[in-house]
Amino acid sequence: MTLVIAMDGPSGSGKSSVSKGVARALGLRYLDTGAMYRAVTWWMLHEGVPVDDPAAVAARAGDPDVRCGTDPNASAISVGGTDVSGPIRSAEVTGAVSAVAAVPEVRERLVALQREIIGAGGIVVEGRDIGTVVAPDAPVKIYLTASAEIRAQRRSKELAGASLSSTQADMARRDRIDSTRKADPLVRAADAVEVDTTSLGLAEVITEIVQIAKGADAGDRVREALSAEERP
Ligand code: C5P
Repeated sequence: MTLVIAMDGPSGSGKSSVSKGVARALGLRYLDTGAMYRAVTWWMLHEGVPVDDPAAVAARAGDPDVRCGTDPNASAISVGGTDVSGPIRSAEVTGAVSAVAAVPEVRERLVALQREIIGAGGIVVEGRDIGTVVAPDAPVKIYLTASAEIRAQRRSKELAGASLSSTQADMARRDRIDSTRKADPLVRAADAVEVDTTSLGLAEVITEIVQIAKGADAGDRVREALSAEERP
């Protein structure tokens, strides 16, 4: 498998900006798996499926046709041919996505699609369960963290005008559902490198991860060369 960088962590840890930056720096593709869960959630709401009823969501999990681009410079996501890159960021979708993402049938479908897109690799993949479930063999696994205060500050800046305390409460609720759900919860993979971005700038985080990735890639090539030497 060529390089796969699994980038996991809670919301507001900087995953999207960091993942796109690393993909650009290394000439890799980029996959935002959170956008895929958001797209399914948008579709369920659009279809009038009661999103707090796991059985109702499970019954329709196979229906939405989600397509997701991998260009770090132009995120593209559609459901059934409709471009949903704007609507998936609405407060309504953000409020419902963790409940939809906790439904095993939804995860099964999206994990299969994510593995198809990852294919032979050459990609940075961001999410919650990439290093543990989607790509457990990824040669580089990063777990991004940051203090709850900093994460809320970053998110409320993104959502121009949202109050800090309500953003922090929303994020805490989403993190709680994401880390305590039965199916593929948010946990740090045992072999992931933890990078705390609380007091680091974006450029510093990108540089650090690019160094880690280059080290892993060089290590792989050395191991391949050594095992080739050992062959008769
Ligand atoms: O990353 P983002 O905040 O856009 O993710 C939205 C939601 O999608 C998360 O809160 C989580 O519930 C779900 N998610 C997930 N597994 C992933 C990526 C996202 O359950 N790999």
